[in-house]
Amino acid sequence: MSFVVRCIDCNHTTPFFPTSMNCPRCNSQWREAEYDYESIGRTIASQISSRTHDLWRFRELLPVRNVHPAIMLGEGGTPLIQAINLGMMLGCPNIYIKDERQGPTSSFKDRQAAVTIAALKEAGITEMVAASTGNVAISYSAYCARAGIKLWAFVTSLVPAVKMREIAIYGSQVIKVTGSYDQAKQVAAEFARQRNLYLDMGARTITSIEAMKTIAFEVSEQLTSMLSHSARSTGKLNPIWRAPDWYIQSVSGGMGPLGVYKGFAELQKMDLIDHVPALAGIQSEGCAPMVQAWKDHSDIAAPVKSPRTHIETLATGDPGRAYTLLSKHVNETHGVFESVTDQEAFQAMHVLAKMEGISAEPAAAVAVAGLFKLVRAGVIKSTDVVVVNCTGHTMPTEPSVLGDNWARNVVMPNQTMEETPQEGLLAALSRVAPDRFPCIALIDDSADARRLIRRILQSQGNFSIHEADNGRQGLKVIEVERPDLIILDLMMPEMDGFAVLDALKAKPETADIPVIVSTAKELTSEEKDKLKGQIQALMQKGDFLSDEFLEEVRSLLG
Ligand SMILES: [Zn+2]
Repeated sequence: MSFVVRCIDCNHTTPFFPTSMNCPRCNSQWREAEYDYESIGRTIASQISSRTHDLWRFRELLPVRNVHPAIMLGEGGTPLIQAINLGMMLGCPNIYIKDERQGPTSSFKDRQAAVTIAALKEAGITEMVAASTGNVAISYSAYCARAGIKLWAFVTSLVPAVKMREIAIYGSQVIKVTGSYDQAKQVAAEFARQRNLYLDMGARTITSIEAMKTIAFEVSEQLTSMLSHSARSTGKLNPIWRAPDWYIQSVSGGMGPLGVYKGFAELQKMDLIDHVPALAGIQSEGCAPMVQAWKDHSDIAAPVKSPRTHIETLATGDPGRAYTLLSKHVNETHGVFESVTDQEAFQAMHVLAKMEGISAEPAAAVAVAGLFKLVRAGVIKSTDVVVVNCTGHTMPTEPSVLGDNWARNVVMPNQTMEETPQEGLLAALSRVAPDRFPCIALIDDSADARRLIRRILQSQGNFSIHEADNGRQGLKVIEVERPDLIILDLMMPEMDGFAVLDALKAKPETADIPVIVSTAKELTSEEKDKLKGQIQALMQKGDFLSDEFLEEVRSLLG
């Protein structure tokens, strides 16, 4: 390992020591690790091929000399999962989830804790202080426990009790601060100063930024093997890895995206990729100082004094200089800052879980909701390769996401003289699910379209859905099932949607069933006239994610 620490304010370089926080020349706390990219770039791709898939795979580019296996917990090396269903729904097939839930404590902060604690252990540190909105303290606690370092964890009293207990179980001292996260940071800093203890400095911590880089390294290496086409060549470079077009992450203090940006930038310096992806930083609307500043074209973010979001993990009201640095990178990469409401985040969390089997925490869902918003706005194009950072567990917010009636009870009856045990069980089960869910007939010759519509409907409620892949089959299904609603494609071979409509209207028993027509093509005015009065709604394919479609379905089903 050979690298120096360079001050971003006066350019002064020093050797790295984890407890030295300030530039000895100008006292700045904003410094960056700098490696010999030319020599590392020549060898790293071939050297890592035989290494295990954890973040130490990229050890030449990390600020730790010898990582002791005794403090490793399997950090990094998380899967990159293609979100095939979301991709179909959004009309944007190359969406990938960097599944940071699969870290040792289920969040991307495990990288930060792994690298920082390894460096502190190497430096002989035995006690440290961190302020946290939850996840950082949990990650640090796990690694501190393993490394024999005492952690003082300052958390705001708004952090859910389950998270606080999770911090405590590792033996960390939890200190609840009744106040904002920014105030908790101030108290923690004062405590560390008085006792002369190591303090986690968020985005100013060199080991933390360095740790986050590994997300960029892994994503680029993984995408290269997942995407069939090879990296776009610019002519002068011969990149061997593939960077995404977009990298999306929810932002609180900014450390994650700052580190990930540095990772991509280093890969580009080493000619391993040919571009740095556009960065999209997504914040919760109730605490969006970065989004506000960026939309105002300001280099400085005005602090949000009282964050109004249920998503406590994202409640950094005062991002300080991290915003100034991050906004520079966002602009350089032609990225964006965007905000979403808590409600949009909870909805995205539900959609992600039901469509992809990925249950993320609300903070990660903010990034997913941001993805939906950017695709709908046309900022992200259908051909773009998009990676979304997904972290955490749903535990604390599940009730508000699911609403009421998410579980049904089976109460086992007391056996009476008149009932056999089986009868009692059947009676109990009949109360668990109604005999009949609203019934929908789905007639479309495209299997992909049917699968997509089915998934969207199923992600929103209980429906019994019957499919047909042509008009004639569709009429049979309708006759047998007597659906409450028909979703009908127009362009089908043999018997098209118009003919199906004529047949339905000709029979009194089917004439009144509501019909939503879905079509991929622009209709002529003649065709539109033909549909007038015959159908309840006309949806353009690709619009199915819109609330309008689901509202239409709900209202037609009463
Ligand atoms: Zn300096």
